[in-house]
Amino acid sequence: MQIIFECPVCMKRSSCTPDPAQGPVRCSHCDWSRDEGAGDFDGDYCHRCRVCGCSDLWRQKDFPPGLGLAMVGCGIILSTIAWYNHHPELALGVLMAFALVDMLLYTFMADMLVCYRCRARHRRTALNEQHGAFDLEVSERYIQMKKRQDSAEHASKN
Ligand SMILES: [Zn+2]
Ligand SMILES: [Zn+2]
Repeated sequence: MQIIFECPVCMKRSSCTPDPAQGPVRCSHCDWSRDEGAGDFDGDYCHRCRVCGCSDLWRQKDFPPGLGLAMVGCGIILSTIAWYNHHPELALGVLMAFALVDMLLYTFMADMLVCYRCRARHRRTALNEQHGAFDLEVSERYIQMKKRQDSAEHASKN
């Protein structure tokens, strides 16, 4: 399992690969760590965020952002070249081939879990069906909660 997260203490972006998977999660910049061990797991499945303990997680494709877009861009350029060289069937073929590869990549990409509260990403972990796709309503609830927390903190400081 690999976890990519923003450290709750030093606020830096950090990545951690606990070995074994139930092992402690540590920040690579400061001495923050969290060790809930098996408490974060339901058998082999991760059931709550390993950084903040939040049990609301959504699953999404672990598809590198930008890769899909780069591929579409390449396909368009190649097919434009083919089009200008008077090979319309080749132009169409190139576009279709790229679309197909894109679709296959998407199908075979593994899922990852993302935390609604702290947005930590949990990659290469066993997933069960309890985690749904991204839900805007749940996300909005956490954003509002964070806003309230921030303003409460602000008020207590003044
Ligand atoms: Zn840190
Ligand atoms: Zn979290």
